[in-house]
Amino acid sequence: MLVVRRSALEEAVRGDLEAHPPVMDAGVREGIALAAHDRAALLARFPSATLLAAGLQVVLLWHRATLGGQAFLGADVVSVRPRRKDPEEEALAIFHELAELLLDREGRHYSHGDVWLLALALAIPRDRVHLVLFYRQKIPPWAVAIRLETTRAIARVAWDIEDLTARDESHRRRFQR
Ligand SMILES: [Zn+2]
Repeated sequence: MLVVRRSALEEAVRGDLEAHPPVMDAGVREGIALAAHDRAALLARFPSATLLAAGLQVVLLWHRATLGGQAFLGADVVSVRPRRKDPEEEALAIFHELAELLLDREGRHYSHGDVWLLALALAIPRDRVHLVLFYRQKIPPWAVAIRLETTRAIARVAWDIEDLTARDESHRRRFQR
């Protein structure tokens, strides 16, 4: 029997997506991500959370007392708990808070599921979803898998997602520098 252990954050994200399913149109969400990438004008294939925050002129505060992350809506400030041991989860927390700020700026009605999906769209631009296996990501492999599971472009992605999830680890080792 194969036992796959999930991280606490993965459980939380998957739980959120189930308990607070997305209410926004997927196209609108992707549009917000696209506009954010354009505004930040980043050159990297897959943007880093901290550079995206800078590009969007969001002030990033590192605070040990923060529970994961917190967005100060209206102030364009995001507070994140530093996680030296897990920079990928730390990046995901920043993407999450940036997503919350962007949705708030847009004055949208959204659920927490939308926040996570926008966070993943910010981390992995839609037009680069097909490249995720070939370049190292800045968010955890399971989050990459969720992005693939929830992206329509997935239909054009030429591999089996279950297989991908199983290979997450070996892929990560191979592409990690
Ligand atoms: Zn949140």
